[in-house]
Amino acid sequence: MKKRIILRFKKDTIDKPIVYRLVKDYNLVFNILRANISPRAESLMVMEVEGTEANFKKAVRYLKDLNIDTEPMEQDINRDETRCVHCGLCTSVCAPGALFIRDRKVMKVEFDYTRCVACELCVKVCPVKAMNVSFE
Ligand code: SF4
Ligand code: SF4
Repeated sequence: MKKRIILRFKKDTIDKPIVYRLVKDYNLVFNILRANISPRAESLMVMEVEGTEANFKKAVRYLKDLNIDTEPMEQDINRDETRCVHCGLCTSVCAPGALFIRDRKVMKVEFDYTRCVACELCVKVCPVKAMNVSFE
């Protein structure tokens, strides 16, 4: 299975070697899509995790025991290519750079789904409603 999950760390849990443990103890392959680490407030990490369902469940239990909350990223962001007019508005709100312009001469807005953390800001700003949310 492959899932995208959001991890929320309290102040006292940011120093735990969780990424190492997820790989070594639970044989999970992961890709960190976004990390916002703050020593004074709640920190957040969005990751795509791949492995067996059983190991995933064990890993979630391990994180819970460390007081790290996990939640599935249930919504998915899609772009309706027939609607997009490549105005570029969404690129200014997309912090992880999932929506971007590669070539300024062409001014074509590209969408890299793997970088998207489903914050939905592009959905709000798109004037032609090309960006939309679907739920798993
Ligand atoms: S805001 Fe909408 S129309 Fe404009 S580039 Fe982004 S997806 Fe396309
Ligand atoms: S939801 Fe839109 S703005 Fe947010 S990360 Fe994904 S593509 Fe970027």
